[in-house]
Amino acid sequence: MDLTYSAEDEAFRAEVREWLADHLVGEWAALRGTGGNGRDHESYEGRLAWNRYLASHGWTCLGWPEEHGGRGLPLFQQVIFHEEYARADAPVRINHLGEELLGPTLIAHGTSAQKERFLPKIVAVEELWCQGYSEPGAGSDLAGVRTRARLDGDRWVVDGQKVWTSNAHLSDWCFVVCRTEPGSSRHHGLSYLLVPMAQPGVDVRPIQQLTGTSEFNEVFFDGAVTAADLVVGEPGDGWKVAMATLGFERGVSTIGQQVGFARELEMVEDAARANGTIDDPGIAARLAQAHVGLEVLRLHALRTLSAYDSGSSGPEASVSKLLWARWHRDLGELAMDVLGLAGLTTGEDYALDRLQSLYLFSRADTIYGGSDEIQRNIIAERVLGLPRESRREARA
Ligand SMILES: Cc1cc2nc3c(=O)[nH]c(=O)nc-3n(C[C@H](O)[C@H](O)[C@H](O)COP(=O)(O)OP(=O)(O)OC[C@H]3O[C@@H](n4cnc5c(N)ncnc54)[C@H](O)[C@@H]3O)c2cc1C
Repeated sequence: MDLTYSAEDEAFRAEVREWLADHLVGEWAALRGTGGNGRDHESYEGRLAWNRYLASHGWTCLGWPEEHGGRGLPLFQQVIFHEEYARADAPVRINHLGEELLGPTLIAHGTSAQKERFLPKIVAVEELWCQGYSEPGAGSDLAGVRTRARLDGDRWVVDGQKVWTSNAHLSDWCFVVCRTEPGSSRHHGLSYLLVPMAQPGVDVRPIQQLTGTSEFNEVFFDGAVTAADLVVGEPGDGWKVAMATLGFERGVSTIGQQVGFARELEMVEDAARANGTIDDPGIAARLAQAHVGLEVLRLHALRTLSAYDSGSSGPEASVSKLLWARWHRDLGELAMDVLGLAGLTTGEDYALDRLQSLYLFSRADTIYGGSDEIQRNIIAERVLGLPRESRREARA
C-alpha cells in the first residue's frame, strides 16, 4: 500500500494545525497536556467543555458517515487529525467509548430509532458512555457473563455485577452484555442492552489503581431498568454485537492512542536531556530503539487498518495490540531508568508526575482490550491457522 500523504491530505493537515493554533488559546491553552491514562481526572470539567467546543466546530466523530453527524473522512485524514492533535499537546479527549466503540456499533447494528436517539448526543459530547462487559469470572472468557436481564412489560430489568468499568462514575449510559435467556450458556442467549446510569438500581463503586486514581469501577445492577427497545441487535444475539464492538476497539481507535505515545516518548527524551542520562549509551540506544518501534507500530497499524474500510479490524489487529502493549510497557520502564532515584520520590501531596504515571499505568496495557495471552491465542488460531486450544471460548 502507498503510505504517503496526498496533496489533499496535506491541505487537511494544514487546516487542522491552523485551527488548533487559532483556538487552543486563552482559557483552553491551560488545558494543554492534561488527561490520559492514569490522569483522566485532570481538569475534567475543562476538558469536557473543550470536547464540546471541538464538537461545535465539527471535530468529533470524523470517520463516521455524514448522515450520522460525522464527516466521513478517510482513514489517512483521521490519522492526520490525531497526529496534529497530539502535536499541539491538546487535552486528551474524553468521549472515546461513545465515539469509537458504541457509535460505530450502533451505526452497524442499531435501529433507526436508536441511531436518532443516541448518535447526535455522542457527536455533541452531551452523553458519555461506559463499557459493561467484564465481570468477576468473565474477563478473557466473556461468554461466562452472568449478569441477567428479563423483560417486564415494556422494560428490561437488570441484575448482576460488572467490574473494571472505565469511567462508569462519569458516564450517562452503559452498554451492557447480559444473559436474557434463562438456562442458556456461553455465547448463546446474551443481549446487548443500553442502560442509563442515573437510577437507583445502579451502584458505582470506584476501584483505586496503582496510580492512586480511580478510573475504573465495580458496577452493581440491582433491579436496574431500561426500555424494552434499547436492545441492540436481536435479543439473545448479543454476542455478535459485542464482538463487533471489540472489532472497533482494536480498529481505528488505536491510532489516536499511538499518536499519544509519540508525545510520551518526547517527554522521556526531554527528561533524559534535562538530567544528562541521554549521554549514557545504554539509554541513548533504548531511546533510538523506542523511535524505531514506534514507527513500526504506526506502519503496522496503518497497513492492518487500510485492509478494513469500516473502521473495524480483523484478527491481525491482535498483532498490533501485542506490539503496542509491549512497546508502551518498555517505554514506562525506560522512563523510570531515565528518572533514576528521582523516579522513586513523588511530588506535592505525593502526586505522581507524568512519567511515573506512565510507568505505573502501562502495566495495565497487557491486560485491557484483551490480554497478551488472549491475543497470542487469536494469532495462533485465526491468523496462523494452528489447531484450536482445548479450552472454553475466550474473549476475542
Ligand atoms: C485499565 C483497564 C481498564 C478496563 N476497562 C474495562 C471497561 O471499561 N469495561 C470492561 O468491560 N472491562 C474493562 N477492563 C477489563 C479487561 O477487559 C479485563 O481485565 C481483561 O479482559 C482480562 O480479564 P480478567 O481481568 O478477568 O482476567 P482473566 O480473564 O481472569 O485472566 C487472568 C490471566 O489468565 C490469562 N488467561 C485467561 N484465559 C486464558 C486462555 N484461554 N489462554 C491463556 N491465558 C489465559 C490472562 O491472559 C491473564 O493473564 C479493563 C481492564 C483494565 C486493566
